[in-house]
Amino acid sequence: MPPLVLYNTLTRSRETFEPLFDDYVGLYTCGPTVYNYAHIGNLRTYIFEDILKRVLRYNGYRVRHVMNITDVGHLTGDRDMGEDKMESGAVREGKTAWEIAAFYTEAFKRDIRRLNIVEPDVWCRATETIDDQIALIRRLEERGYTYRTSDGIYFDTSLFPDYTKLSHQNLEALQEGARVEKNPEKKNPTDFALWKFSPPGVQRQMEWDSPWGVGFPGWHIECSAMSMKYLGDHLDIHCGGVDHIDVHHTNEIAQSEAATGKPFFRYWMHGAFLIVRGGKKMAKSEGNFLTLENTFVKKGLSPLVYRFATFQTHYRKPMEYSPDGIQAARNGMEHLQNQVRPLLEEGGGAAEAHPEFREKFLAAVNNDLNMPVAMAVVQETLKARLDPAVKRATVLDFDRVLGLDLEKVAREEALPPEIQELVERRKAARAARDWALSDQLRDEIQRHGYLVQDRKDGMKVIKR
Ligand code: AMP
Ligand code: ZN
Repeated sequence: MPPLVLYNTLTRSRETFEPLFDDYVGLYTCGPTVYNYAHIGNLRTYIFEDILKRVLRYNGYRVRHVMNITDVGHLTGDRDMGEDKMESGAVREGKTAWEIAAFYTEAFKRDIRRLNIVEPDVWCRATETIDDQIALIRRLEERGYTYRTSDGIYFDTSLFPDYTKLSHQNLEALQEGARVEKNPEKKNPTDFALWKFSPPGVQRQMEWDSPWGVGFPGWHIECSAMSMKYLGDHLDIHCGGVDHIDVHHTNEIAQSEAATGKPFFRYWMHGAFLIVRGGKKMAKSEGNFLTLENTFVKKGLSPLVYRFATFQTHYRKPMEYSPDGIQAARNGMEHLQNQVRPLLEEGGGAAEAHPEFREKFLAAVNNDLNMPVAMAVVQETLKARLDPAVKRATVLDFDRVLGLDLEKVAREEALPPEIQELVERRKAARAARDWALSDQLRDEIQRHGYLVQDRKDGMKVIKR
């Protein structure tokens, strides 16, 4: 069996994956800040993480997956300055911060279900774990890593010698990056807030008592507290987008290792950005953000077309969004469904996946999740001369990783025989250039509740 090799940001190298204990993997993925819809760039990262989880399972590992929901503490500058994203979302929409969090959490969960992303075993909200976060900050305080300023309790990064081990930047470069947010009370530009005080005279919507005063946790502490709480010692893989490397994950490592004296996660994996033409990343703050709802669902496109589209680019390479790219993915997905449909219809007895093609597929996904190659193996399998039952079993086995719902989608799209007959008659009428009959048959098909589209690549009939 080809070993599972993953690129680890911590070591900047490809490593053969080995969990800490037996066949059990603890996976933590940083979840969304729920002050707005996720954009399809965010969703690219969640699809990459879903592929990782499915590949782990495909390799026989049992995975415990924890994802947090950031519903407090994330300020517009990732470094403890600027507005609180939740509270400004509340002002924008004339709702409470709690209502905003509940609404966008549901919207996010709906998006990931639509993308066939397997839900985590544990969803946890930052606001549910304030006590755990306070306990962790106390541990840091006892160990002498914290200091107080007029606006909060800070972590002194100069006391953690390995502070740059994830970012691989030199400290001056990191500090230079951090210096944009001027806070004269900080001892070092890279120091970050563990607890922030509610501003004097202001009652925030989200605030809690603490040993240091009323306020709210800094953004990074939640992921340390929740990963330790829900994964215990199984700190195997921690993921996020590349923007988390320099600040969020760097700070998570510093505060976690400072508190426990033990190594935090062993493998750190990061997905590259979805970018728009001109190379800019898709971001809520850039005003160039597209949602799954508007870009796919409202246009009658299956969200799984987006999932398919992301497979064309390796997760560590930036992917450029373009309508043409999405159209190509749509065609590719339909082609795949058309290839799979006859295999499902032909029936045949139960069969096992073809060992040689399975091995090839495994080699691709185990090579740091190389989905472009995996998709080429899917095509190679479909074109090979194989017994249809074996071919079907092989492709459906691959779909455990792909998550394209091949069995379901192909079956759903299969037309009932009476409709299929009308379709065949209409095709014949069009071939004979009998447009009157063609129109008559189109109307008849539509009366049965189907939509007929004449496209460059042929007639398409879908259930309304
Ligand atoms: P946020 O809700 O801002 O905390 O981001 C959620 C996830 O999306 C994080 O893992 C980010 O690193 C990731 N992310 C943000 N922007 C992009 C983008 N343009 N492309 C891919 N992933 C992104
Ligand atoms: Zn996080």
